[in-house]
Amino acid sequence: MAATAHTEKGCLFILSAPSGTGKSTLCKRILSRFPDMRYSVSYTTRPPRTGETEGADYHFISREEFERRIREGRWAEWAEVHGNYYGTSADLLEADLTAGHDILLDIDVNGARQIREKFPESVAVFIMPPSMEVLRHRLEKRSSDPPEVIAGRLKAAEEEIACSSEYTHVIINDELETAAAELIELIESYRDAGKRLHT
Ligand code: 5GP
Repeated sequence: MAATAHTEKGCLFILSAPSGTGKSTLCKRILSRFPDMRYSVSYTTRPPRTGETEGADYHFISREEFERRIREGRWAEWAEVHGNYYGTSADLLEADLTAGHDILLDIDVNGARQIREKFPESVAVFIMPPSMEVLRHRLEKRSSDPPEVIAGRLKAAEEEIACSSEYTHVIINDELETAAAELIELIESYRDAGKRLHT
């Protein structure tokens, strides 16, 4: 099942999930378990949130700059999410792949579609909440967002979940430790298959 993911370049792992599904925590777990894996730092036009660092969480750029790079064809993928642009630099991605690094991309369903088209061997994982009810509780608990913002996130989540069948794997995040272990085991299986192919 896992044997086709690797080329002589690195392997691309895509993670998508609705807001409130624990994706950021799962990304951190993956990166600490696989220290040689590179996190693809996206570009965005949304302002930094408290605690976010330029170059680590995102590269923060203006809408004008982002649109200029669209015209110049400099994105491996890009999408507008919740009114802001997000994109993956084609140059940065290619450089990491050519250097043989495995790469982790945290991108939305539109971006995932574009990456899979360009890199059909990539491994796309969708993180699913156990139910819409649980997702609602998590979103209400974690933020002081007004009900209409939470309603908007839930609506977006339904749309994203409708695309989950396009993904190579779906992992349900009911209990964080179990989901993290499942995800790590999955990534390990692809990495082991890649090593076997190239030794
Ligand atoms: P946030 O603003 O909460 O960090 O991210 C909002 C959404 O944008 C998340 O679903 C995240 O996966 C997605 N996202 C982050 N970076 C990229 C990117 O480079 N490309 C695309 N298509 N989506 C991204």
